[in-house]
Amino acid sequence: MIKKEHLVISILLIIILVFSILIISNIEDKTEAPQMPCRVTLANDSDDPGTVEVIRGIGNPDGERIAYVVGVHPLEHLTHETLVRLLPTVDGLNCCYDIYIINVTEDVGSYGGSFNDYDDPGRQNGQNLALKYIYPQIQSGNYSLAIDVHSNVGAYDYKTFVFSPVEGGLGERYAREVADNCADIAYYAPDSTTSGPYLTIPLNENGIPAFYFEEYSFAEQEIKDQHMLELISAVDNIYIV
Ligand SMILES: [Zn+2]
Repeated sequence: MIKKEHLVISILLIIILVFSILIISNIEDKTEAPQMPCRVTLANDSDDPGTVEVIRGIGNPDGERIAYVVGVHPLEHLTHETLVRLLPTVDGLNCCYDIYIINVTEDVGSYGGSFNDYDDPGRQNGQNLALKYIYPQIQSGNYSLAIDVHSNVGAYDYKTFVFSPVEGGLGERYAREVADNCADIAYYAPDSTTSGPYLTIPLNENGIPAFYFEEYSFAEQEIKDQHMLELISAVDNIYIV
């Protein structure tokens, strides 16, 4: 005759065993799942004035592929960091995003420095890295759209805006759609850009729609966050043709 206490202890042990097996199998499932998104180094050559990384696979893996680019102009890093921090936190994204990140390490410069935009060596370093490493990746990467993220010191008619440096194509069309759907983001195309020839112009001219997002460099972080979330949502809902 089995004692009642022994029976209770046996049942408890069986319950603990079953739960242990369930927990262990759950952990194994998680380690076997693909680790997306993932951040990898694309370029780390001592001859270059900086490095290039990419975070791949943010959002819906089955969605349209869209590339964001940050770091072309190193002084604008607060806006770049805002995108890198916020995009992975947005739930229910429709599209699949890769963020290309340029980290210029030589001649980063400072606001109020002695160079104009065209002569600034830090800006040129970022532009060169964009053309050398990021342009070929986006060009051959089956992307529906690329967005180059920048900030400005407030010398334009608008402080927070999107535009394509190539008029009349899908880059302009998508940028206008974003501006139409964002209360705080205008469509405004400056007369010229320093970085266009290194990324957004050749992309547009070779089949990948591309536009700029420009934020005001000295906006409060809270405002930068708000604008970035508007951009992220509007981009995610663009009608891709
Ligand atoms: Zn810029």
